[in-house]
Amino acid sequence: MVYYKTEEEVELIRKSCLLVCKALAEVASSIKPGVTGLQMDLIAEELIKDHSALPAFKGYRGFPATLCISINDQVVHGIPTDQVFKDGDIVSIDCGTYMNEFFGDSAYTFALGEISKEKMQLLEVTNTSLYKGIAAAVAGQRIGDIGFAVQDYCEKTYKYGVVRELVGHGIGRSLHESPEVPNYGKRGRGSKLKEGLVIAIEPMVNLGRKEVKQLDDGWTVASKDGSISAHYEHTICVQKDKALILSDHTLIEAQIEKNPNVNSIAIRSSEMTSV
Ligand code: MG
Ligand code: MG
Repeated sequence: MVYYKTEEEVELIRKSCLLVCKALAEVASSIKPGVTGLQMDLIAEELIKDHSALPAFKGYRGFPATLCISINDQVVHGIPTDQVFKDGDIVSIDCGTYMNEFFGDSAYTFALGEISKEKMQLLEVTNTSLYKGIAAAVAGQRIGDIGFAVQDYCEKTYKYGVVRELVGHGIGRSLHESPEVPNYGKRGRGSKLKEGLVIAIEPMVNLGRKEVKQLDDGWTVASKDGSISAHYEHTICVQKDKALILSDHTLIEAQIEKNPNVNSIAIRSSEMTSV
């Protein structure tokens, strides 16, 4: 069952998404080599609770934390630990909130300290692919057009591995609603996108091959070949000519700008209106 949202519902989802990005921005201002995932998790959880909201992931199917923190070859769903972040780490952080009966969901990948050009390019390409997917998410197009846009850019142009096992999703009164939004696909295939459809688009892209494995903790997904992975996510609403982006990465990037321990990706989200 696909639930199309009213304008009022879209605004409530936007509020939840903005709180997610505020939490990620708070993390962005304090993340650096030497801090731990657990410390970042506490910062995000306190900020969310200060806004009378709930962290959406904590307790979701038994997940123990507010943030999913996935380091280097970890793709998604990493559990925050007391492991200290190191210079050169690639840290993907996913966050969700629940407020006014609606969920918000967004993710961003942080590059700590000295980072190779090869790794920075993966982050930039993954982030750009997110906006290519968003550009395809307009009424009248199909789900496959979104996946095609992401996959074509990452695989054809850059030979990266686009993860198949995990996908984007509808979002609203539930954290995960129909439809599934794969990051791969064929043009013109899949269900038709209609105005009011709210979905999270979230490319997960490996520097090496696309295959992933599940770690023994039962949550963390990592690349099979050990190559690093990046993950960016926006919640958007499908409209007539151009999708409305409900989450806001400019809040995160403004903090990265001021944090000397985090590298900025070359292309800012504020410039990514159409690609
Ligand atoms: Mg997410
Ligand atoms: Mg999501």
